[in-house]
Amino acid sequence: MNRYDYNGQVAVVTGGSSGIGLATVKLLLDCGARVALCARNADRLKDVAAVLRRDHGDDRVLASALSVLEPEAVNTFAAEVGDRFGRCDLLVNNAGQGRQSTFATTSDEDWRTEYELKIFSQVLPARAFLPMLRDARGAIVAVNSLLAYQPEPHMVCTSSARAGVQNLLKSLSIELAPEVRVNSVLLGLIGSGQWTRRFADREDKSVSREAWYAALAKDKGIPLGRLGDAEEAAHAIAFLGSRGASYITGSQIDVSGGLARFI
Ligand code: NDP
Repeated sequence: MNRYDYNGQVAVVTGGSSGIGLATVKLLLDCGARVALCARNADRLKDVAAVLRRDHGDDRVLASALSVLEPEAVNTFAAEVGDRFGRCDLLVNNAGQGRQSTFATTSDEDWRTEYELKIFSQVLPARAFLPMLRDARGAIVAVNSLLAYQPEPHMVCTSSARAGVQNLLKSLSIELAPEVRVNSVLLGLIGSGQWTRRFADREDKSVSREAWYAALAKDKGIPLGRLGDAEEAAHAIAFLGSRGASYITGSQIDVSGGLARFI
């Protein structure tokens, strides 16, 4: 399915080597964009980029190994994108992971680490790519979580930091208007990343992935009765970044199978 026209456009996806980020990279390439992706693990990124180049052409893919928490590396990445592609129409701030801990089990260091990841993974790429985004009258799409509005006590610092990110994005959407639109997706449970890892660590190894995910969806009370796919999250991201969403800013789409309980 390829519904968004990204011909002539350039997209940057942080955390593009796996899960939702990778699904987004693939969809944007399918929709005609040239795409730059980054992640920390250079070997995995290299393997992923080789497949993307094979499938979509060498000239349409740029991959850089870096952490989005390192300002100089992020600035260098933005300069590389400028040199190679000459523009940036869409920045997808996706890099990151959740942290499972309660108030009792979260150390001060954990709080600092989590807040640094959640806030600076938005701030540093947004700042570095802003001049190009402004020139292109482009968009930022942040990958955030339902936890921002619906906190879970077993993910106390992630939930709290995610709420801060939504607040930050609202301010950004006002400050950067009218040149740059800023929106987010609020994910529920998407069957990638952390859930793949938790499935691999399951106690009873005889339980299939399908059965484990179905039991999890039932336990969590997901109305659509299953976890989402990375591709389903990617579609919401691609829509918000597209010209079709040209009058949408400071907004969010929840991709949670109905798990969101707020109105
Ligand atoms: P994955 O673990 O599959 O992918 C995460 C990606 O981010 C990888 O490419 C990883 O590569 C990269 N990454 C992590 N930290 C950094 C960093 N500091 N700098 C650059 N790249 C980084 O996770 P998902 O696809 O499941 O999750 C994507 C995003 O969605 C995350 O921010 C996650 O917190 C969020 N989310 C996911 C949910 C879900 O149910 N899956 C629910 C709610 C939110 P590398 O390790 O090589 O750096």
